[in-house]
Amino acid sequence: MTTILISGAGIAGLTLAHWLRRHGMAPTLVERSPSPRDGGYKVDIRGAALDVVERMGLLDDVRAHSTDIGRGTIVDAAGRSVASMDGDTFGGRDHDDVELRRGDLTQLLRGAAAGVECRWGDSVVALAEAGDGVEVVFARGDTRRFDYVIGADGVHSATRTLVFDEPDAFHDLGYRVAVVAVPNDLGLDREEVTYVAPGRTALVYSTAQSTKATAMFLFADDRPIPADPKRLVREVYADQGWELPRLLGHVERADEVYLDALAQVHLARWSVGRVGLVGDAAYCASTASGQGTSMAIVGGYVLAGELATGGGLAGYERAMREFARRNQALASPNLSRMVLGSVRQVRTALTMLSVLGRLPGRDRLAALAIRPIHRAANAIELRDYASEVAR
Ligand SMILES: Cc1cc2nc3c(=O)[nH]c(=O)nc-3n(C[C@H](O)[C@H](O)[C@H](O)COP(=O)(O)OP(=O)(O)OC[C@H]3O[C@@H](n4cnc5c(N)ncnc54)[C@H](O)[C@@H]3O)c2cc1C
Repeated sequence: MTTILISGAGIAGLTLAHWLRRHGMAPTLVERSPSPRDGGYKVDIRGAALDVVERMGLLDDVRAHSTDIGRGTIVDAAGRSVASMDGDTFGGRDHDDVELRRGDLTQLLRGAAAGVECRWGDSVVALAEAGDGVEVVFARGDTRRFDYVIGADGVHSATRTLVFDEPDAFHDLGYRVAVVAVPNDLGLDREEVTYVAPGRTALVYSTAQSTKATAMFLFADDRPIPADPKRLVREVYADQGWELPRLLGHVERADEVYLDALAQVHLARWSVGRVGLVGDAAYCASTASGQGTSMAIVGGYVLAGELATGGGLAGYERAMREFARRNQALASPNLSRMVLGSVRQVRTALTMLSVLGRLPGRDRLAALAIRPIHRAANAIELRDYASEVAR
């Protein structure tokens, strides 16, 4: 039986583990985190990824965990509502797409990969190809041999650093994102409120799953990620209007603030010998694409299918490259709408949104605006690998 080590039990890694096992292979997961993490920020599943989730038998469960956000509002510095629209339009989703919390999705994916060995709180520290396999040394000290090793360890992939000689693969887009759980002071009921100021956006949302709210800060900044994320958020959002002073107080008192760069990964190739990459590790498109989760799901499905049907790592890359390219291309235009550069741009955008929000054909206009993301989300023909393997 083909043995495959997957580094990272995130979205790509768990999807891959499910499909490898289903195709008759023997996956093992190794996850740095000592235990699964719940909740977290919200992510979208669209297009081809919905087909994969359906083929995994998870679509109903995924829908049952929808954040159910029904309304999105944009406010000005004084907190006045400038535009308000239904939650799907606001989030760039059509009616089939699902938004759910990352932790809820990984919990469902763990269920779909139940029984697969997972080494929690461990990681790969060294690996080397030996004959027709890969020798792996784990942080815990033991050594094992696998037929393939796949890095599904996210945008800062250690597998990529260990094996791929492409130091320029990580492209910092010059923006930072911070996420923190906050009390629901605004009394939001499955809704999202966004504040826009030059170079910085802040939003707060509440989901069907939690009495707490989540605040997300997205801002232009290209300095190295500091050790103290709270200080950076405080500095960037000082002297801002709306609820920002109160939100900064919550940031200050929070147990945990997630902060990272918005980045993309561009590699000349996604595998070296018997070591491959999938998900953000191979082709991160950044939060701004809104497609990272769907790309991770599709990548796990295609990689397992190609390994099972003889296409191998090269077949996987051939099948996925164009899909990844199309989705990565969404980030830059999205970013220029999500974070506005100047006072004038903010003023113009708020005026336009306010006018658009009152036009009779606003739903049609909104549908036009989300067309590019849906084209990209569907820009791959999924083979029915399970039937091919069964034949
Ligand atoms: C704030 C924020 C908001 C986002 N919003 C959206 C959105 O709205 N829509 C969307 O589609 N996407 C969104 N994304 C992107 C999405 O979360 C990622 O693209 C997606 O999770 C990628 O999946 P992955 O499995 O490749 O990587 P990850 O989900 O990052 O999983 C990687 C896993 O590897 C583990 N790991 C890391 N290093 C090691 C190591 N050395 N050894 C072992 N394990 C390791 C990690 O602990 C983690 O479990 C957002 C991301 C962020 C940060």
